[in-house]
Amino acid sequence: MNTTTEDVVIVGAGPTGLSLGAELRLLGVSALVLDKQAAGENTSRACVVHARTLEVLEGIGATAELLQQGLVVPIFRIRDRSHVLATVSFKDLKTAYPYTLMCPQDRVERILLERFQSFGGMVQRPSEVFDTRPVGNDLQVHVKSGEEARTIHAKWVVGCDGAHSIIREQASIPFEGGAYNESFILADVEMDWPLERDEVTLFYSEKGLMVVAPLPDNRFRIVATVQQASAQPSISDFEAVLKDRGPEYPAVSIRHMAWSSRFRIQHKVAKVLRQGRILLAGDAAHVHSPAGGQGMNTGIQDAISLASALHRTLRDGDDTILDTWQKERLKVAHSVVGLTDRMTKVATVQSPVLKTLRNTAVELIGNIPFATHAAAEILSELTYR
Ligand SMILES: Cc1cc2nc3c(=O)[nH]c(=O)nc-3n(C[C@H](O)[C@H](O)[C@H](O)COP(=O)(O)OP(=O)(O)OC[C@H]3O[C@@H](n4cnc5c(N)ncnc54)[C@H](O)[C@@H]3O)c2cc1C
Repeated sequence: MNTTTEDVVIVGAGPTGLSLGAELRLLGVSALVLDKQAAGENTSRACVVHARTLEVLEGIGATAELLQQGLVVPIFRIRDRSHVLATVSFKDLKTAYPYTLMCPQDRVERILLERFQSFGGMVQRPSEVFDTRPVGNDLQVHVKSGEEARTIHAKWVVGCDGAHSIIREQASIPFEGGAYNESFILADVEMDWPLERDEVTLFYSEKGLMVVAPLPDNRFRIVATVQQASAQPSISDFEAVLKDRGPEYPAVSIRHMAWSSRFRIQHKVAKVLRQGRILLAGDAAHVHSPAGGQGMNTGIQDAISLASALHRTLRDGDDTILDTWQKERLKVAHSVVGLTDRMTKVATVQSPVLKTLRNTAVELIGNIPFATHAAAEILSELTYR
């Protein structure tokens, strides 16, 4: 059995773990990233990169590359079929990035990995963490790589290991919240879409929520809630959803489907983000509806601020900054979970009376520039500066 020692061991090489690793190494802290999978995921999953994320990724030099590989979309629109209820423009935001950037998660991860490696970082794969326990002032991280088991000693361990985090589970940190009854289906498609490619559209429908967003390479992302989803949703599943919930005319046919998937969603937040020398960030700390595209963004922002707090802790020998970090990020997590939950519930109201009330209210608010500007600031996560 081999034994090594690290300052920070990061469990999970998703967008959260890679951002944390890159920022730590930029700050001169040695950080090892472990991932149980033999290779990185190559599916598009989360596609929205918000303005605040582009700001915080400037330090590690990822933003310019993201801008090259993504598609700038300046408008978020809420519609009932074709009818516009509200337009939220990001164009007036006080940031160098007054838009959302559509960039599939596999591209984002590739860019973050390149940045991490450019600072001398390495992801060890496949390396599955199966146990973490305190020993003296350090932690012992037990890792399996195929048949081989080894122990890594670490000063700090950060669980960036996703919604089913083993780090959270073994630290017995409660994950509090609930689950949505519906499943989400999603696909990246090529289709003749009757609306402009400068808007992400959230369609209200009593049959369920639907979001259509333009992607690079002339593709579109479709996300929808359904009662029952097949494991591999088909083109006709998405054409049916577009017909029922999208613009009334013309009927949209999908020419090509590059990828489809389904997933179920919970809305939960970890009770604490720190337990002694164990920390949680990203989906390990909070999960929620994809409405508003906040998931990957919130994880990356957890990571960048955690890197600075860990750097100061290791440099100064004072860990109180980590409690401040925890307090701030828990507040953000609760606010994101609340926002996305409200967006999901409001979008899928079923009663005709409530539907009329909702549409009237959203249309009224959608005509108040102050209100739509505030909505743009919240969605872009610039309010968390
Ligand atoms: C099908 C799908 C579609 C999605 N669509 C959207 C969307 O449209 N919009 C949106 O905002 N979000 C979406 N999400 C959610 C988004 O992908 C997550 O919010 C984001 O990936 C969180 O990043 P993360 O780094 O925190 O965790 P993850 O990306 O989950 O990464 C966790 C990593 O930890 C590794 N790991 C887990 N356990 C261990 C262990 N014991 N040892 C070592 N490594 C381990 C895993 O292999 C994984 O690489 C989607 C997710 C899925 C699955």
